[in-house]
Amino acid sequence: MAHRVLIPTPLRPYTGQQDAVELEGRTVGEILSALTSRYSDLRRHLYADDGKLRHFVNVYVNDDDIRYLQREATSLKAGDVISIVPSVAGGVPVSEATAAPELTNAEVQRYSRHLILPEVGPDGQRRLKAGRVLCIGAGGLGSPAALYLAAAGVGTIGIIDFDAVDASNLQRQILHSTPDVGRSKLESAREKLEALNPEVRIETYEAALTSANALELFRDYDVILDGTDNFATRYLVNDACVLLGKPNAYGSIFRFEGQASVFATKDGPCYRCLYPEPPPPGLVPSCAEGGVLGVLPGVIGTIQATESIKLLLGAKNTLVGRLLLYDAWNMRFRELKLRRDPECPVCGDHPTVKELIDYDQFCGVPQQGAQANAGGTASDPEATVEELKQIQSSGRPLFLLDVREPQEFQIAKIPGSTLIPLGQLPQRLNELPAGADAPEIIVHCKMGGRSARAVQFLKERGIPARNLKGGILAWIDRIDPSLPKY
Ligand code: ZN
Repeated sequence: MAHRVLIPTPLRPYTGQQDAVELEGRTVGEILSALTSRYSDLRRHLYADDGKLRHFVNVYVNDDDIRYLQREATSLKAGDVISIVPSVAGGVPVSEATAAPELTNAEVQRYSRHLILPEVGPDGQRRLKAGRVLCIGAGGLGSPAALYLAAAGVGTIGIIDFDAVDASNLQRQILHSTPDVGRSKLESAREKLEALNPEVRIETYEAALTSANALELFRDYDVILDGTDNFATRYLVNDACVLLGKPNAYGSIFRFEGQASVFATKDGPCYRCLYPEPPPPGLVPSCAEGGVLGVLPGVIGTIQATESIKLLLGAKNTLVGRLLLYDAWNMRFRELKLRRDPECPVCGDHPTVKELIDYDQFCGVPQQGAQANAGGTASDPEATVEELKQIQSSGRPLFLLDVREPQEFQIAKIPGSTLIPLGQLPQRLNELPAGADAPEIIVHCKMGGRSARAVQFLKERGIPARNLKGGILAWIDRIDPSLPKY
């Protein structure tokens, strides 16, 4: 009686790449014996030297493990299907290994340095070809990540972004070049990636990632590569990954320091196991405020691409359960052990987060229109750059306070401003005008974030001030374009 035997991907090199073979036999033992006499190289993979089936090889008859039947003596009836299931390293169940496409001759040539690596080989390369990675953002981290994923032959690379390329991106976002300034990042990314490797498919999504679209977008991907630059999106990406069971190749950067890990795998921790709650808004400055060494995202984004590729290959030794810390200034790597927290609100034993929430609210990001709708917290007064210009021209007394850092002041300043960096404001309040006939105080920074905090701080100490909306960037855009933008 002939039976169908299904051959798993790792063993197909020994069966002439066949995914199934028909063999005669009355018991499982006879079938395996027929199999290994037809494909003799297979023998040492299935059997130990003592002639017993290896421990990491499981054999199933239909849905049943033969260890719970009569092992190799299990008898077979017509129509029974035998499956060989070796334990493969966790990793990502890449869209049915059987569906992994063959490599073309051009691909064999292109990926030859992968194909001769035992850890990748032709099967691994086919897994990469069948693999799908979604990059959240085509910025500092997304740039090197997407370039390496495309070069490596990851078959489908999704990118979600809604920004245009700005000249200040070029210092680190190497997907984009000088002629791309002003173009959509997605268009620029698609062009570069397709030029690098026309064999891969680039899917672009011109949108902001939200609770409304995240699950739908993530569902079709094997790995999510988190290249976001804000906490609200980071928690959204984490929770969506946990809810869908998709691994999250995580990276973050600030100034000279980076972090990387792999979250939300089956048994590993998630981002919330590490950081259950976001820092209060304003406590941690963004890269736009704090700066970032241009090459840093190159290192961290490349680590994220490495881990994504390893996940697709089914590698065991990923960053799951480890937080890698990189200090570029002192050129030091360290790592911390991470454990899944049984109390974690999203991946713990009794999760309280069972669907996506409002992450802006969770992270304390002010809502659009919140200022009009002041509610319990009175909104702080603002001035536009046009009003500032008009006050200056009218000769009305004014104290223009710049709360940026000295190096920013050096790059560009609004005439007549006084520099007191935000961090020094508490100790330098005596430098501000006081008294009944003191001039009005208008506070500015680069974009309006730090100055809003300064206005709030001053208000709490009974000092009235207005925030310059849009900061010095708005001033440069609308009043004095001769100043350099940074
Ligand atoms: Zn967790």
